[in-house]
Order: sequence, then structure tokens, then C-alpha cells
Amino acid sequence: MTCHELIEFLDRYVEETVSEEERREFDRHLAVCPACVAYVDGYRATIELTRTALAAPDDLVPGTVPEELVAAVLAARRKR
Ligand SMILES: [Zn+2]
Repeated sequence: MTCHELIEFLDRYVEETVSEEERREFDRHLAVCPACVAYVDGYRATIELTRTALAAPDDLVPGTVPEELVAAVLAARRKR
């Protein structure tokens, strides 16, 4: 497995469509490739955040904040 293959694998890993065999290759690659370990850590954190946000959007984001936040970000960008 190459680094590129590992990254493609991750997308399917999230969808849970990978085989045992592929999982073993994935683990083998991680054992020898610190760069991909770091990548996977970041990827997992992103997935956690996304899942949490999808599971409980109301808890995370109080009703009126998102639009104001978006407006503030857009306004800040326009100033540059
Ligand atoms: Zn790698």
C-alpha cells in the first residue's frame, strides 16, 4: 500500500466498505509510515467533529449564531 492508496482507503474506511485484508494492509502501512499516522489522526478528528455536528446540531450551534458567524467571516474577508 502506498500513501496515496492509504488516503483513498480512508474514505471507504469511513463508509465501512473495506475488507479485513484491506484493513490489515492499512495497519501495516501505518506501522511504517509516520506521515500517514499523522494524517489519519487529523482525519479521525475531522470525522468525529462531523459526526458530532450531524448527530446534535442544535446542541452545538445555538439557533442564530451560524448566519451571524458567516456574515462576520465574509465581512472580514472583504476587508482584506
Ligand atoms: Zn504513508
